[in-house]
This record gives sequence, structure tokens and C-alpha cells, in this order.
Amino acid sequence: MISVFGSANMDLVAYVAQAPKPGETITGREFRTIPGGKGANQAIAAARAGADVAFLGAVGDDAFGPGLRAALAEAGVDTAGLRVVSGPSGVAHIVVQDGGDNSIIVVPGANGVVTGPAGRDAEVIARSGALLLQLELPMDAVVAAAQVPRAAMSRAEVILTPAPAVPLPAELLEAVDLIVPNEHEAAALTGRDDPRDALEALLDLVPEAVVTLGARGVLYGSRDGARLHEAAVPVRAVDTTAAGDTFAGALAVARTEGADPARALRFASAAAALSVQREGASTSMPHRHEIDRLLE
Ligand code: ATP
Repeated sequence: MISVFGSANMDLVAYVAQAPKPGETITGREFRTIPGGKGANQAIAAARAGADVAFLGAVGDDAFGPGLRAALAEAGVDTAGLRVVSGPSGVAHIVVQDGGDNSIIVVPGANGVVTGPAGRDAEVIARSGALLLQLELPMDAVVAAAQVPRAAMSRAEVILTPAPAVPLPAELLEAVDLIVPNEHEAAALTGRDDPRDALEALLDLVPEAVVTLGARGVLYGSRDGARLHEAAVPVRAVDTTAAGDTFAGALAVARTEGADPARALRFASAAAALSVQREGASTSMPHRHEIDRLLE
């Protein structure tokens, strides 16, 4: 089982030829509301990729909350740990340009009042093979979640997507087994613009690291000396929203199934390549049989 302690947002997505400049008003081509948030995205990605997944987080008591819960449940994610708090759910305003590039504003809402896991939630994490974390919840809550496996003497490995990129406290880094930034987050965290240099710097902080490079694939390193580059699957991208979340969710599935690093990178790259060929976040994530077929 994989647990995800993270954000659920309703994505309010406008599709445009080109994103507006400051002060400019433009007419978009299409608008959609799509369940998202890095936590919910990773949970759905992992469930579709074949794992039992439990989501721990919060939605508001507004019109978006039930839709966010339903989207997780529909993907087969256990939502018993999804609280309803008073106030708005998290939302993300997303602008997708022709060609697939996107820009995003996240307003945390309910995600901003989540506190560290206790009671049943902590037990769920302790029973998991992996705990997926991102940084769209309050940092104190993320640190508390990351510390659960060690405190419970659980085998759950802690996998952190450090997004949005903010300075990481030492207590968090001490509890993380694998960090999975994109190249921009890796540069922000380490001050090294070259992803290979950033990877080495990340390994001073945590035992294993994956730096995702978009269409250029991924770099992997571990403190025991392994270094890998996995090329991206060549595809025509229409919308890269949540490519990184699809990658992280699928990577956790492969690792909890015992795949070696090379195999896990291939599995996650295949899942992400399938997702960039479709629009949306959770709507674009592939099912296990699609990933397996691409890897045949
Ligand atoms: P996002 O913020 O859009 O979720 P990200 O910036 O976190 O994405 P990326 O590094 O862009 O993450 O992409 C993650 C992985 O998805 C890449 O390492 C690659 O395997 C896959 N991927 C992304 N873009 C493409 C593409 N154009 N073609 C094939 N695979 C891609």
C-alpha cells in the first residue's frame, strides 16, 4: 500500500493560444474544472498504475469538496483520511498554452490548515510501503508526516517531491529516503544549474535522488554510487500538467513492487509519457495496462 499525505485542489484550467502578459486580457478557447493538487494527482497516478493507495488531506465545505473526493474514489483511492474543513477547498488557476506549456497559481484553502498525521492517519502511513509527500501543505505538517515511518519503525520509504520549491528544513531532509525534483526545483534547492551537479548536491542531503528533465528524461543517483540517465519516451506532448506527479506516483508503485532503479525509472517514464499526450492532470494519467503495453 502507498499513502499520500498532500494537497487536493480543484484545477480551473483555461486553454489559450498564448498566456496573457501582465495587464493584458485575452480570450481563451476552452475552460474546464479538473480535480488536481499535487497530492491528489500523485495518489490517482499511483492507483491507476496499480497500487492500493490511501489519501490523507483535506477539502473545504464548498462545492468543490465532493468533486475532489469523488475523483479520488473513482480512481480507487481510499479517502477515509480526507477531512472536510470549513472554508474553501484548494484551487489552482492553470493556463495551458498551445504546445503544452503551463503556468499555475495555487490558492491553498483547506490544504493550508492540514496538521501532522495522528491516530488512524499515522497508522495508515506506518502500514504503507511508501509515503508520498509534496510541499503544498504547511511545512510543519509535512515534516511530521515524514517522521512517522521512523518513529513507528515502519518500512515505509519517504518519497518527497519538493514542489513548490522552498528551503527544506533539516528535520525533513533527515526523514526523506528519495527526493524527486524537476530540474528547476533541483537548481533552486542546490544552487547548481547543471542538473548533474544538482543531483550530486542532492545526494549530500538525502540517500537517493531523481531529477526530472521534461522531454530530456530523468537522472537518478544514490549514495551507494549508482548513476543512471533514462531518456524520455519520444511522444508529441499536448499538455504537460502533472507529468511530474504521474512520474512520482508511478515511481512509488514500481519501487513498492520491488523494481530495481532502472526498471522503476522506465516504468515511471512510460507513465509520464502517456500522460503528456492527453489534456488535464488526473484526467491524463494512464492505467496499468497502458503502461505495461508501452513497456512491452
Ligand atoms: P509538471 O510540473 O508539469 O507536473 P514537472 O516539471 O514536475 O512536470 P517534468 O520534468 O517536466 O516534470 O516531467 C516529468 C517526467 O515526465 C519527465 O522526466 C519525463 O519522463 C516525462 N515527460 C515530461 N515531458 C515529456 C515529453 N514532452 N515527452 C515525453 N516524456 C515527458
